[in-house]
Amino acid sequence: MIIADFHTHSSFSTDSDSRPEEMAARACELGLKQYCITDHMDLDFPLEEGAFIFDLPRYFDKLTLLRMQYADRLDLRIGIELGLRNEPEVISTMPERYRKMLADWPFDFAIGSTHVLEYRDPYYPEYWQMHSPEEGVRLYLESILDNAGAYDGFQVYGHLDYILRYLPEGAEVDTGRFYDLYDAILKKLLSKDMGIEVNTSCYAKGASSPHPEPWVLSRYLELGGEILTIGSDAHMPERIAGAFDRTEALLLGLGYRYYTTFRNRKPEFHELGK
Ligand SMILES: [Zn+2]
Ligand SMILES: [Zn+2]
Repeated sequence: MIIADFHTHSSFSTDSDSRPEEMAARACELGLKQYCITDHMDLDFPLEEGAFIFDLPRYFDKLTLLRMQYADRLDLRIGIELGLRNEPEVISTMPERYRKMLADWPFDFAIGSTHVLEYRDPYYPEYWQMHSPEEGVRLYLESILDNAGAYDGFQVYGHLDYILRYLPEGAEVDTGRFYDLYDAILKKLLSKDMGIEVNTSCYAKGASSPHPEPWVLSRYLELGGEILTIGSDAHMPERIAGAFDRTEALLLGLGYRYYTTFRNRKPEFHELGK
């Protein structure tokens, strides 16, 4: 059993209404031993001013208190999901702003994720009006490669191929065409002692595999990747640890033996299949 969910949100995120207390209570109920809340921090989110930003002192006050309240039942970790961007005028200053934030606050764990590129969120159709499906995916992966090089301080890159969730209806893209690009991303992350996550959120939407796709997980292992966190990306209690059983079976089938959690941004390894 996987005993830790390392990518979840609460009402500190603009897109969640679930209080941290409700999330922690459900994590406990499910028998998790470790639970990390990783609320969204997307500095300068272009589509809505002030969206996806939270108040850091309030966050730490709240989660530190909750951690004490749950101390005998659940090991609550305090994390963050940083929205990384590669537009030239953004990438010249944003890495330093996040670096300072991570230096100033005692997060256990930080995820770096791409949610926005070219000032657009591929969640919305505008992005796909500008790009064919294949070009849209390529640009997304290229932005990850840029970000993996420019930003520091996070432990894993989140949902590497999350853009596949938002392809225009009926579109399909064979990600194998981007093998070299994925390879460059994985090698760049490994060269900086950073890892990736398995994000299980798409199972709830009927997908048959997680983010990233199994072939990418295999390639990461082949390249010597060891840091692999597992996260549901739950924004509500019902989604916590979603599809963890089948994810565990998938990882074992691919040859993984361990997954990772973090405390004070230091990795801890847990055996799969236990
Ligand atoms: Zn995300
Ligand atoms: Zn998330």
